[in-house]
Amino acid sequence: MSKTIIIATKNVGKAKEFKKLFAKQGYTIKTLLDFPNLKEVEETGITFEENARLKAETIATETGKIVISDDSGLCVDTLMGEPGVRSARYAGNHDDNLNNARLLAVLGELPDESRKAHFNCTMIAAAPGKESLVAVGICDGEIVSVPRGTNGFGYDPLFEVDGTNKTFGEMSQEEKNKYSHRAKATKALFNHFDDWLSR
Ligand code: IMP
Repeated sequence: MSKTIIIATKNVGKAKEFKKLFAKQGYTIKTLLDFPNLKEVEETGITFEENARLKAETIATETGKIVISDDSGLCVDTLMGEPGVRSARYAGNHDDNLNNARLLAVLGELPDESRKAHFNCTMIAAAPGKESLVAVGICDGEIVSVPRGTNGFGYDPLFEVDGTNKTFGEMSQEEKNKYSHRAKATKALFNHFDDWLSR
């Protein structure tokens, strides 16, 4: 199998983290920007795993290469896991401010103990003719009632990370990486990757 890995994203920031980890192992990291002719894979699944799997396995079949994809989102306990796989489009179109406003409105004046939530990031590594590898990263916290911090993206200013008294919006990227669902899933995937590939 060639030592090229496609990260199923057009987000250069996401790819950078993988580059850091996998370059040492001699892998070349590419993104979907290097494959402009590939059709966009629609996220029609009802779980993070289904969506990530759909993307990675479709692109692996089409290109014949190793592909890593992820799907992530925010799950609020009192909302039975919503917005979940609909996190990006909770308020209709992908608009972080509107999503945040909707979430705050839905939770209203609920007390802290009813505002528990977690971020989930599910990653899949797929390669032609192989059973895919799955890795999950979870970050627990709660939804604050007034946004705090301007760093990050999405629901970051609303999500206070358990044990830190800080929202992701109040953390530097480096600090967020200590706790984030995405960093945890990336590490878990990396730890099993070579073993999976040699099976
Ligand atoms: P994606 O699967 O990484 O594209 O994430 C889908 C959506 O989940 C994003 O558009 C955000 O609304 C939300 N989300 C995922 N990860 C984060 C995060 O680390 N901070 C804030 N929002 C996030």
